[in-house]
Amino acid sequence: MERTKFLLEENEMPKAWYNIQADLPKPLPPVMHPGTGQPIGPQDLAVLFPLELIMQEVSQERYIEIPEPVREMYQLYRPSPLIRARRLEKALDTPAQIYFKYEGVSPVGSHKLNTSIPQVFYNKLAGTTRLTTETGAGQWGTALSFACNVFGLECKVYMVRVSYDQKPYRRYLMELYGGAVVASPSNDTNAGRAMLAQDPNCTGSLGLAISEAVEDAATHQPYTKYSLGSVLNHVMMHQTIIGLETQKQLEKAQVEPDILIGCVGGGSNFAGFSFPFIREKIVNGKQTRIIAVEPTAAPSLTKGVYTYDFGDTAKSTPLIKMHTLGSAFIPAPIHAGGLRYHGMASIVSALYDQGLIEATAVQQNTVFAAGVQFARAEGIVPAPESSHAIRVAIDEALQCKARGEKKVIVFNLSGHGHFDLAGYDQYFRGNLPDYEYPADEIAKAVAGLPKIDA
Ligand SMILES: *Cc1c(COP(=O)(O)O)cnc(C)c1O
Repeated sequence: MERTKFLLEENEMPKAWYNIQADLPKPLPPVMHPGTGQPIGPQDLAVLFPLELIMQEVSQERYIEIPEPVREMYQLYRPSPLIRARRLEKALDTPAQIYFKYEGVSPVGSHKLNTSIPQVFYNKLAGTTRLTTETGAGQWGTALSFACNVFGLECKVYMVRVSYDQKPYRRYLMELYGGAVVASPSNDTNAGRAMLAQDPNCTGSLGLAISEAVEDAATHQPYTKYSLGSVLNHVMMHQTIIGLETQKQLEKAQVEPDILIGCVGGGSNFAGFSFPFIREKIVNGKQTRIIAVEPTAAPSLTKGVYTYDFGDTAKSTPLIKMHTLGSAFIPAPIHAGGLRYHGMASIVSALYDQGLIEATAVQQNTVFAAGVQFARAEGIVPAPESSHAIRVAIDEALQCKARGEKKVIVFNLSGHGHFDLAGYDQYFRGNLPDYEYPADEIAKAVAGLPKIDA
């Protein structure tokens, strides 16, 4: 029999994260203070984050050791499997080889635990007793709730209203792990109350939920801190355990990847999966194609502008240079809630700007079609976010078929879709809308942003 799963022993799990900042062709543009427009220092972030995470955010060390208690927690579900999608290959009748790294095996169902565990661990060391955060579809809130529970911290989650209504089981799961959940906009913060006064039916956005969580942390000092599930440099780095494992597994499969694919919301699963391979491009001149896939409803890479913007709606976070749709962006209610963010990680934005990665945007219905085709071949029900990557993996495999090419395609399956079945139901009933974010809206939103040259 031919091999289908490429597994690592627990003692083969990487012992350090990879920090791509050490290998970037150009240093990242500085992060700016929202008030002064000048570069921020570590002390400006100390209200929100513990020192260790701030140091990781700016570190230029190539590898940072994973603390032993974090590795012990990783052992709950890591190393995760690399699986050859033989049945999908057959269904597509493609000469291409398709592999996927499956992050849905984590107890919370997605890659997000890879960073919630170390974030809570470093907070615990620094004396934090309570963390606040936002969540879109609910995966991040779930991952943080579980990690907080393990290390004995309280957790308060501001959940984007549309997902709170669309995905009630995610809220039950967060509460099961001990998290306290409110719908955002909420009455618990000034930012939430201001939005509700303006529009009592506001469906919310990640940007607004971030404003609420940041305000909550800033007004409950000194023991409450804030935690972000994507976008920041340290989050990207924690996720590199995905790509580091994948490299070892592809070695066992004795193949070299031609195309790597990941979906992008804030960019963390894509980053974690691809950064170790991007090092091979930067340092060793490898020619691997690396493709980020986003929804047409939130096309920050393919249609957004590369400029300084706030991470949130209330303009309270530092200014980051990134591909953005403008922080006032209220996204269409696509089911891939984790991809409905206005911006993109600074590092992913810089890599795109420098031509080291490609990006493409896909419509919701074609994404669900790919998810269904994948589930029927491989059995795993993918999260709608992950199905963005599957859509492009299938399209690339079909191109290989048309051209008779035996390429090796590897994608990251960031999470399972067991809590997204209502989306699949809507798809089967034929009333799933497609959305195209209008270009004139982007121009308008970005026109109002502060002009900073860096
Ligand atoms: C949160 C999430 C995403 C999007 O976030 P990134 O930071 O871009 O990875 C993608 N897939 C799943 C399953 C998620 O939970």
